[in-house]
Amino acid sequence: MANTLVHILHNECPHCHEGKIFNEKNIFFNIGFPKMNKTCSHCHYQFEKEPGYFFGAMYVNYGLTVAQSIATYVIAQFFFIKAFDLRIIAIIAFVIIAMAPFNIRFSRLLWIYMFKNYSI
Ligand SMILES: [Zn+2]
Repeated sequence: MANTLVHILHNECPHCHEGKIFNEKNIFFNIGFPKMNKTCSHCHYQFEKEPGYFFGAMYVNYGLTVAQSIATYVIAQFFFIKAFDLRIIAIIAFVIIAMAPFNIRFSRLLWIYMFKNYSI
């Protein structure tokens, strides 16, 4: 389990752990839409198995965003007198926008690893 998380964070192919999934130097703090390789450069594992395969990664992204929003609220409420200050919403919005490039890539990596073909 810990090894899988290391492979995910290192952007490695789920099959051979040699090739890269994203064709970018720093995958988590890169502005813009992710540039993915279609297949692994080492074992030719196909990352996008069918058209619209990464549609489901949106749900993973949504879960990550909600978790980050709740964590931001829990942390931010200690800095305000009222339990629900409207400025917390602006802080949460900033965190969501700042974390979006990370969440897009991380959710796709999680999606690929959740549905990798274990029989190969
Ligand atoms: Zn591979």
